[in-house]
Amino acid sequence: EIDPLNTVAIRVAGAKDARVVSLAPGLPDTWFENDGQLTKAEIRALTLAALAPRAGELLWDIGAGAGSVGIEWCLRHPRNRCIGIEERSERAERARRNALELGATALDIRLGQAPDALAGLPAPDAVFIGGGASEAGVFEAAWGALKPGGRLVVNAVTLETETLLGTLYARHGGTMRRLALSRLERVGGMHGWRAAMPVTQWVVTK
Ligand code: SAH
Repeated sequence: EIDPLNTVAIRVAGAKDARVVSLAPGLPDTWFENDGQLTKAEIRALTLAALAPRAGELLWDIGAGAGSVGIEWCLRHPRNRCIGIEERSERAERARRNALELGATALDIRLGQAPDALAGLPAPDAVFIGGGASEAGVFEAAWGALKPGGRLVVNAVTLETETLLGTLYARHGGTMRRLALSRLERVGGMHGWRAAMPVTQWVVTK
């Protein structure tokens, strides 16, 4: 059952596994069908905060993967919209399934490769680049289309993309931060910290 305002999506599949979508971002990773390419909940919450959605805004989610960032953007407000670009068809399909499952009907997943797939899209209020940032022309196309006052956020896990972010930071300013996440996991009968790959995040306002 989806709340008519879509701000609260409640799935009633027996009270035990009913899922109530929080007003805050950072939904559990297990709510998104994924193949491992997923922005983890804690990183996703910080990413949404940096994208700073306002009512009725449009996000481009470039390298949409499982769609989690675009979905969480859409769930912030019933008028929010997102166009997600994903180059791999099985992932595009998966992102569509996840969006339907969580009531994010305003997520429009387009199968295609950035930057080509960005041509002709309506100008975004915010852009998230979670994949494809290191490909020639992706940042330039996104930055060129972004509305004045719009936010652009890039998450990098590879050295190559991080190096590019250093160059872009020197040119455009903004803020850079490194997010290091560890979660407690079982180690035999005890517990230990499992570190995720650190994420370098660049946030810039046009
Ligand atoms: N933020 C996503 C995970 C992104 S993983 C989530 O939380 O679900 C990065 C994704 O970018 C991968 O699915 C990869 O296929 C895609 N990708 C990489 N380069 C791309 C490009 N140039 N155009 C479109 N998608 C791209």
